[in-house]
Amino acid sequence: MAVTKNITRYVCDRCGASAYLPDRDPRSSEWHPVQRVTSDGALMDLLLCSACHKNYRSLAVQQDGEYNRWMIPTAGDKEEQV
Ligand SMILES: [Zn+2]
Repeated sequence: MAVTKNITRYVCDRCGASAYLPDRDPRSSEWHPVQRVTSDGALMDLLLCSACHKNYRSLAVQQDGEYNRWMIPTAGDKEEQV
C-alpha cells in the first residue's frame, strides 16, 4: 500500500461534507474560509464547501443590502430618540 504524506482534511462547517486533499491539489480552491461577526461582535472563522459558500454569499449580499439601507437615517429615527 502506498503512503501519501502531506494531506489536509477539509470539513464544511455547515453541511459536514469533507475531503482529504494532497497539498497544492487544485480542488482545495473549492473550499472557502469565511469570517463572520455576530451581532454580539464575536468573530467566527468558518470553512464552507462550494455549495454552502454559494448559499452563504447570497445571504451575505442580502444582509449587506439591509445594512446599507439601515445606515441611511430616516425621518422616523428622530422620533425613536425621544
Ligand atoms: Zn457545505
